[in-house]
Amino acid sequence: MKTENRRKQTILITGSNKGIGFETARQLGLKGCRVIISGRDENRVAAALSRLKNEGIDAEMLVMDVSDHNNIREAAEEFSRFNSKLDALINNAGIVSRPDRSLLSDQPLLIEETVRVNSFGPLWVTREFIPYLNRPGRIINISSGGGSMSSEPGGWSPAYCVSKTLLNAITRQLARELRPEQISVNAVSPGWVQTDMGGRYAPGTVEKGAQTPVWLATEAPLELTGKFIRDKEPIPW
Ligand code: NDP
Repeated sequence: MKTENRRKQTILITGSNKGIGFETARQLGLKGCRVIISGRDENRVAAALSRLKNEGIDAEMLVMDVSDHNNIREAAEEFSRFNSKLDALINNAGIVSRPDRSLLSDQPLLIEETVRVNSFGPLWVTREFIPYLNRPGRIINISSGGGSMSSEPGGWSPAYCVSKTLLNAITRQLARELRPEQISVNAVSPGWVQTDMGGRYAPGTVEKGAQTPVWLATEAPLELTGKFIRDKEPIPW
């Protein structure tokens, strides 16, 4: 794959009004990237945008609910009216539905919603934004160690874990499809970090959780594709 030139990179991050997504946008912005933050609630995204702008970051916002394919399509059209191209797409938005205790007895809607947001969301966003992604380009899917198939299930949040396993499978397939187009596609296990989702007892900081997505979006070799990455290193699926 060719090496990238040094012009300013434009990066879209879904679910970036808080948590790992916000911190990823912040770190990328401080590195000199132009970031497009996104989320489902206009007020929350606007508040996050002003925080970034207060730090002198070149940022824009896009309202997009990744659980709704029509809404994603409209957001992509909106994007194309005001922007030309993206250099990287970070599919970060995710949920843990409550309670998520049992595939056999939880409400089917809870399981469907979890998979819709965490697995199909990244796929539909990728499909709608791929026309606007530069070649070479990068796609980063924020997955979870809970989606791993190489360790025993931990017994926590089974619908969430299944949704991340599916996201990992989607990542591998997209990497294969997009390799000829010089687009790398990787999944990230950010580790258990302190956010609204991770809770305050998580051992990792949100700054640490954002480091690998930031690296993959900017500095990682473009040949690195179709991998599950933790702390900037491939790990078993
Ligand atoms: P947070 O709950 O702090 O943030 C999640 C973000 O996703 C919020 O901005 C939220 O928006 C947004 N979001 C949720 N649903 C949608 C939707 N339908 N459309 C658009 N945006 C949406 O979570 P984290 O920052 O902790 O998690 C970020 C990613 O990292 C997730 O994919 C998660 O699964 C993954 N991860 C997190 C770990 C952790 O320990 N924290 C561990 C492993 C993986 P809103 O404010 O509107 O809810």
